Amino acid sequence: MQRKAIALLSGGLDSTLAVKVLLDQGIQVEALNFTSPFCTCTGKNAGCKSEAVRVAEEFKIPIKVMHKGADYLELIRNPKHGHGKGMNPCIDCRIFLLKKAKEYMQEIGADFVFTGEVLGQRPMSQRRDTLRTIERESGLEGLLLRPLSAKHFNPTIPEQQGWVDRDKLLSIQGRSRKEQFELAAELDVKNYPCPAGGCLLTELSFVGKVRDVFDHSDQLNLRDFRLLKLGRHFRIGDRTKVIVGRNEAENELLERAVQPGEAMLRWKEGMSPLAAVMGVCSEELLERAAQILLRYTKAEPGAGASISVVRDAAEVELRTVNALDEAAVEALRL
Ligand code: SF4
Repeated sequence: MQRKAIALLSGGLDSTLAVKVLLDQGIQVEALNFTSPFCTCTGKNAGCKSEAVRVAEEFKIPIKVMHKGADYLELIRNPKHGHGKGMNPCIDCRIFLLKKAKEYMQEIGADFVFTGEVLGQRPMSQRRDTLRTIERESGLEGLLLRPLSAKHFNPTIPEQQGWVDRDKLLSIQGRSRKEQFELAAELDVKNYPCPAGGCLLTELSFVGKVRDVFDHSDQLNLRDFRLLKLGRHFRIGDRTKVIVGRNEAENELLERAVQPGEAMLRWKEGMSPLAAVMGVCSEELLERAAQILLRYTKAEPGAGASISVVRDAAEVELRTVNALDEAAVEALRL
């Protein structure tokens, strides 16, 4: 009887190889891919999601893409197993994904779950003890196979039952990717542009911006985290933030993200980026936002300036003075 397994597929090299190894053993594979506002490789043309979809198409296997939702945001705020160097809750994150995978496994009647994890490759989530914790707390004990490092672990149920041949599984370990590249050549696996995936939560430069959202939100919402990748961010009030676009593409994205009651500002007397005022928009805060915006225009320091303020499809003019010097603007920047 052909056995069915769920693959956690990022579209990177390791998970792609794991899929190929099990397909070559005659396992029926269905892929599961997760996206979040923190993926760094969600570019215009190729992101983790589209890479995973491409890999699934190449292997002719079904794929389901799931978005990590608000429950994931709470997990980042307060992870049971703590954060890594940045805001990355890697152990809890893996448990979260595998719990979802377990639910999906049960939903579609699959037999087990497998991943491209490699023992010792990542310092936080791929140590022997943490891999064990992840397996236990995800509720997948015995049913979680890591084909690339399987020989470093006790045999799982799929191996014990002979659903997969342990002899054909691998014993890769450590941070070098040499063995994966060799295996890719051997298995004829090509095109893996996003070998290790990317996660903004691991970037130290991003930590302050993430913390700021947690510290100033009554209710967490995905939009506020998605916006962290765009523009220059300034905190000007407990519930008010300004984001200034860095190019036309960002200006357009910011314009689309603005919600009722929020405002869009542009300098009227010359070329101007867009400044989106997110959250509470009092007159005083709008003027502060306008002065920040002026630092990114050719407005004369100290001179009067005219600002277009668009709110709820109505436009008004705001008169202010280009009064903030660079240090004052930087002091507000996140
Ligand atoms: S690096 Fe990011 S996506 Fe990967 S396990 Fe850690 S928190 Fe999750």
